[in-house]
Parts: sequence; C-alpha cells; structure tokens
Amino acid sequence: MVDRAGPGPRADRWCGVSTALSVRGVHKWFGRTPVLQGIDLDVAEHEVVALIGASGSGKSTLLRTVNLLEPVDDGQIFLHEQDITDPRVDADAIRARIGVVFQHYNLFPHLTVLDNVTLASRKVFGVRRAEAAERGLALLERIGLADKARSYPDRLSGGQQQRVAIVRAIATEPELLLLDEITSALDPVLVGEVLDLVRELKESGSTIVMATHEMGFARRVADRVVFLADGRIVESGTPAQVFDAPEQERTRDFLARLH
Ligand code: ADP
Ligand code: MG
Repeated sequence: MVDRAGPGPRADRWCGVSTALSVRGVHKWFGRTPVLQGIDLDVAEHEVVALIGASGSGKSTLLRTVNLLEPVDDGQIFLHEQDITDPRVDADAIRARIGVVFQHYNLFPHLTVLDNVTLASRKVFGVRRAEAAERGLALLERIGLADKARSYPDRLSGGQQQRVAIVRAIATEPELLLLDEITSALDPVLVGEVLDLVRELKESGSTIVMATHEMGFARRVADRVVFLADGRIVESGTPAQVFDAPEQERTRDFLARLH
C-alpha cells in the first residue's frame, strides 16, 4: 500500500486532533471468498476520507465492519482508541456513537420526518420529547426542510429524504459518520443538494468515511482518497495525488475506465 498523505491537511485546522478510527489488519471472508484482505486505515478526527473502487471491492463491507454489522474474521477496529471488535463490547452502545447513511433512503415510512430525526435521541439517549423536537426542528431548518417536519417520508423527493437521513444520522452527534454511496440511488438533479450537505458537515468538523463513486465530489470534499481493489487498499493519498498522479497501475486502470 502506498500512503503519501498521512492525516489530511485539514487536521491542522483543529487543535488536539486525535485518531477517531483505526482499522488494523482487518480480514473478512464470506464463505471462502476473501472480501477484506488486511485493511489498515487510520482516520483522524475531523478528517473526511473517501473510499473509491470498483463494485465488489469491499467498500460497503469495510463500512459495515466498522459499524459492527459484520464481524471481522481477523484484525481489530478502534473507535477513539476503544477496541470495538472486542467480543465483550456492547455493540448497540458502539453503534450509538456512529452515524450511518446508506444508499437507499432508510427513513422509517410510518414516522413523520421529525420523528425520524428525533427517534434515536429519544430512544437511545433518553432525551425528552420536547427537547429532541426542538433540536430536530433546528436540524431540519438547517437543511431547509422545517416545513416538512410533520410530513411522512413518501411526500419528500429522494434528495430531501437523503438529506433527512443525514441529519437523522447526526442528530445524536456521533463521533464518526459513515456514508455508503448515498447519492447512487438518486436522480442526478438531486445529487447536488445531498453533496452540498456533506460539504457543510465537513466544514462543521464532522469525521466522515464515505464510499462514493462521485469522483468529482471526492476530489472537492475528501482530505484523503483511499482506493480499494479486491479487499485491499492499493493506494491512498490526497485527492490530487490519487486522481492526478496515481502511482499504482491498478489505480490508473480504475480511473481510466471511468472516462
Ligand atoms: P462494494 O461496496 O465495494 O461494491 P461490497 O463490500 O459490497 O463491495 O462487496 C465485496 C464482496 O463481498 C463482493 O464480492 C460481494 O459479492 C461480497 N459480499 C458482500 N456482502 C456479502 C454477503 N452478505 N454474503 C456473501 N458475499 C457478500
Ligand atoms: Mg457498496
């Protein structure tokens, strides 16, 4: 693996930066198929890391192991220095510290937009309804959807639903945000509004690991781009390094195929 970047340049902007996520030698098999083959990845607090790679390269599986949706077969994962792959950890407590948004809108269809946003604060953190609602409304206001608070998700466009899914994920102020191809099911005209919100989260200091096929977005928003192939990190560096001067043949092939 080639890593020329180290922690992103933005790390300098934040004082006392520490490692939010550390993936160490992670292996994962599905049956006999090796899907993650020794992943090592450190993500500094406030850093935005984009995972790129062909379909099937292991991006989603890596995000799912970090969120403890898939057990690792070997290696360790640390969230702010706590080994979350230790079998004794309370997986729900760990997941409560991580915000996740997937490709398909994962809003609860039977709950209003506001209830979607406030559910975790109320159920997991015991925040009182009125307080959760106030905070939820403020978040909806921030994305210009306060007027949809009492609507059900199916009244919203795909882009609006994904933005609600994002503010729902940050409503509990997670230590880490995992975004898995969050724009790939969207109509192209709706992609921009979702990406703008991610850029805003970056500006406000969120730590983000996102699998994306939006290379233009990865270039503009990520501090570091990590290219995976066959469950391995082939190359990693700043967007300029990986996109403009890839050192590995496989990275060059992958990027060439996109055009
Ligand atoms: P990506 O997100 O980069 O497209 P994935 O992590 O989804 O890649 O998949 C990596 C590999 O793991 C693929 O070969 C895929 O078919 C396989 N895979 C993913 N999930 C499962 C599963 N639940 N059972 C068996 N194989 C799986
Ligand atoms: Mg995937």
